[in-house]
Amino acid sequence: MDAKEGAACCHFGVLNLIQDQGKLMQLAKRLDRLPPYLFVDINQRIAEKRAKGEDIISFAIGDPDLPTPSHIIECLCQTAHDPANHRYPETNGLPKLREAIAQWYEKRFGVVLDKDKEVLPLIGSKEGIGHMALCFIGPGDIALVPDPGYPVFSMGTILAGGEPYYIPLREENDFLPDFESIPEKMANQAKLMWLNYPNNPTGATADLDFFVRVVDFARRHNLVICHDAAYTEVSFDGYRPPSFLQVPGSKEVGVEFHSLSKTYHMTGWRIGMVVGNAQIIDALFRVKSNLDSGIPQAIQYAAIDALSGSQDHIAEHNAILQRRRDKLLKVLKEIGLEAKTPRASFYVWAKVPQGYRSVDFTRKLLDEAGIAVTPGVGYGKEGDGYIRFSLTTSDDRLEQGINRLLSWRPSPDKGGALVVV
Ligand SMILES: *Cc1c(COP(=O)(O)O)cnc(C)c1O
Repeated sequence: MDAKEGAACCHFGVLNLIQDQGKLMQLAKRLDRLPPYLFVDINQRIAEKRAKGEDIISFAIGDPDLPTPSHIIECLCQTAHDPANHRYPETNGLPKLREAIAQWYEKRFGVVLDKDKEVLPLIGSKEGIGHMALCFIGPGDIALVPDPGYPVFSMGTILAGGEPYYIPLREENDFLPDFESIPEKMANQAKLMWLNYPNNPTGATADLDFFVRVVDFARRHNLVICHDAAYTEVSFDGYRPPSFLQVPGSKEVGVEFHSLSKTYHMTGWRIGMVVGNAQIIDALFRVKSNLDSGIPQAIQYAAIDALSGSQDHIAEHNAILQRRRDKLLKVLKEIGLEAKTPRASFYVWAKVPQGYRSVDFTRKLLDEAGIAVTPGVGYGKEGDGYIRFSLTTSDDRLEQGINRLLSWRPSPDKGGALVVV
């Protein structure tokens, strides 16, 4: 307010000031639509226990414990010295990086991509997944989102003003969506469908016949398919998860998000990619070119090195994870927790005993055994009967955790007497 207005309404000066401040701090309505962060309570309890000196073993984090292979870091260090890499990168990345991505896809999946039209590097796939919603979803628009699922699928939809319509992933369907049960009206109205195999958090996998049905469903309902394939390289027992783009017609209906995070233990460097349908890629490029200035170039060179260098460490890492998986599954069985053996991903998705909900049981494990896991409900309401163990806990900590689990056993059904947060 200027001096004249101030003089005219001196009685209300203080009031106006408060209102003005209130106005400054009026957050957009879209923030109200973000659900409360579900892990706050659990994380706070973990922090409190650790502050008191309690030793908590965490199986709650989906982030590789092993370092990035050293040849990749070497390349990053060398290229960081080059002043050409100190400047703004292009949003769509170095042509060499797009080429390395296309070549990797061809070598790994037999999928041929046009490096200039069908490949877009991302600042981690989470960034691209979040921004993808802006390309298709406006106020009131619907996206089909798996439940349980990676939270970014629904949060991106909500931030874009749209509505997630949740598709349950149930054990009886091997945690795949049941297309028949999706109401015809919803399928027709929705603009986009999110899928993720190998799946976080369930560890479920999908084969090519499933992706054939996805393409058919997308065509019948005029849907864009966004498949998140972050875990195709994290697999066990010789299983090789496929790419959605291996199926004929997939490129007409959708794209696939992938990442260097899980494959090359590069979560902290932030680099991923989206590949597939040229129009969809162009739409995301248009959004991104107005928001970001690409990926630091030294990191792009490190990614080129990762994608085109030796892939031997992938099998080594998977052998370590597989050993951990087997040890954990054995002890879960011994203490009476049911879990399927995952063929891929970092995760063991275990059923909580009858009478518990996922948050109760997570608290119980934390309080009685000093073990942190993720409550399934954090991934959607269908996840409520489950907890997620991540295999990214180092071998010696896993061993200690297993010993704790063995000397602790869940007490029998408490008939729902536990307090639910
Ligand atoms: C870890 C993960 C990613 C990868 O995220 P980045 O942003 O590439 O690190 C994507 N999708 C799912 C389901 C994940 O668990």
